[in-house]
Amino acid sequence: MEKEIRDVVIIGTGPAGYTAAIYTGRANLKPLVIEGVQPGGQLMITTEIENFPGFPEGINGPELMSRMRQQAERFNAEFAYGSVVEADLSRSPFSLTLDDGREIVTRSLIIATGANAKWLGIASEDQYRGRGVSACATCDGFFFKECSVFVVGGGDTAMEEALYLTKFASKVTLVHRREEFRASKIMSLRAGKNPKIATILNVVVEEILGDGHKVTGIRLKDLRTGEFIDHLCDGVFVAIGHAPNAGLFSGQLAIDDYGYIETKKSSTETSVQGVFACGDVQDYTYRQAVTAVGSGCMAAVDAERFLESIR
Ligand code: NDP
Repeated sequence: MEKEIRDVVIIGTGPAGYTAAIYTGRANLKPLVIEGVQPGGQLMITTEIENFPGFPEGINGPELMSRMRQQAERFNAEFAYGSVVEADLSRSPFSLTLDDGREIVTRSLIIATGANAKWLGIASEDQYRGRGVSACATCDGFFFKECSVFVVGGGDTAMEEALYLTKFASKVTLVHRREEFRASKIMSLRAGKNPKIATILNVVVEEILGDGHKVTGIRLKDLRTGEFIDHLCDGVFVAIGHAPNAGLFSGQLAIDDYGYIETKKSSTETSVQGVFACGDVQDYTYRQAVTAVGSGCMAAVDAERFLESIR
């Protein structure tokens, strides 16, 4: 039996994937959306979102994602449970294999697999995530007005997070595991000059301390002396980088040195015609729900135009 060829398949159900589904659904392309390992994406582990336009009272992450999903369903987007384990983009139509062995063939593909913040991997970090532990200052900084917060990491993200947090917190302490920052000179200088930012070098986080409900401090280990030192604080921002979920496509699509899928300027086109990428898997600069939504829309429009061009 001949295999059905879909017009558009979307991989991922974060804000970018759902938006691409809404737009392609509304354009009558009957998109198939592969849900992925964490349906709803990173916002499923975010509590209050206060900066998504249209929700002046704020909205919690799972609720927002559930609404986006309903909106996609309204326009007949079809959802497939599971994740893609193999992709063959070497010829069109493209073929995808899901973890349950199903094979899907499609004329166009929208990759919205997102990225995950890297975490330290200690138990107390998990325990207090969303209760003082965060990986996004833009999302959660507002909750730390006049508080003392720690930022872990020594790259540009850590500098940027620390600087952003000075708008709210009374004190920001940057902690880094080496003597020198990895960040660019300009960012390190900017952070160094800010009177609200203090720095502790050559330390690693041993534990995030709390009272069972929220963060109350941080235990650092000095790598030179082996000594443990406890500090009081209200929040810990982990800023040790992001890992884009693009591994499946390496060797098939152009991917930059940091693992992000490369897209053309002002477009979501990848290095393979008919394959588009949107959201955090192709964006290390903004990483916001709103920008992911915008690029999801762009990917849908780009896919629609591509399909018209091959008809
Ligand atoms: P980076 O990989 O550049 O830096 C990660 C930092 O976290 C490093 O200092 C690293 O330490 C530290 N780190 C990693 N793992 C651990 C761990 N387990 N425990 C403690 N510390 C750890 O990631 P970024 O997200 O900062 O930046 C990624 C890219 O995005 C870079 O190219 C950056 O320039 C760019 N970017 C640019 C910005 C801008 O220009 N405004 C803003 C943000 C990012 P170590 O140094 O010892 O390896």
